Amino acid sequence: MVELDHVNKWFGDLHVLQDINLSIKQGEVVVVIGPSGSGKSTLCRAINRLETINDGHISLDGQPLPEEGKQLAQLRAEVGMVFQSFNLFAHKTILENVTLGPIRVRKQKKEDAERRAKELLDRVGVGQQANKYPAQLSGGQQQRVAIARALAMDPKVMLFDEPTSALDPEMIKEVLDVMVDLAERGMTMVVVTHEMGFARTAANRVVFMAEGQIVEENTPEEFFTNPQSDRAKDFLGKIL
Ligand code: ADP
Ligand code: MG
Repeated sequence: MVELDHVNKWFGDLHVLQDINLSIKQGEVVVVIGPSGSGKSTLCRAINRLETINDGHISLDGQPLPEEGKQLAQLRAEVGMVFQSFNLFAHKTILENVTLGPIRVRKQKKEDAERRAKELLDRVGVGQQANKYPAQLSGGQQQRVAIARALAMDPKVMLFDEPTSALDPEMIKEVLDVMVDLAERGMTMVVVTHEMGFARTAANRVVFMAEGQIVEENTPEEFFTNPQSDRAKDFLGKIL
């Protein structure tokens, strides 16, 4: 579903992605972990082309990522992204937040988009909040709306970049539960997170990044109990 082939990216002199090769199958859940500054966010942003790359190839469902224009908007619809900060439109209701993309980009009729949005909001447990504004919701509720908003576009893959890092501890589980449910429904997912519980429950594979490189890739079980590299051992020693 997602292929990265010898991907390199520089920010000036900083070689932020160094010969990244990664192949993610349909329905696979890949957790990306690693120290701050290792390139995890840049990797996610490259997959939906919020960042360009300098060298190599990225493809989605067999197609190279489009350069610009209409196809790029289409790509952004096919690659759902959920960030650390919830990024909801503050001046739109929860329902409008979820229907905007399907109406504008997917050209759905308003009634159809609203019906689907209500289903998705129910599914993530915030159906009762549909007519409120983002500021009236808790952080955990807003992040669940952000997930519903991405799902409303019928994405082929969902990228999560530290989706629970900005949440109060008591709200982390409600967001992770939605993500586990999504994984169980067969969504292809790339998840940057340090939530080891999520990785152990939902991930097929853990990718460990350090200094722009993929240092280690393994099943969660193997990675957490038997890390191979010194860098992974050192990192796990600090977070576990
Ligand atoms: P992570 O998500 O693993 O913390 P990032 O992908 O955000 O890492 O960043 C990797 C490195 O690239 C960091 O050193 C960061 O400072 C740098 N970086 C990220 N975005 C930019 C940018 N737009 N311009 C210059 N440097 C950047
Ligand atoms: Mg990051």
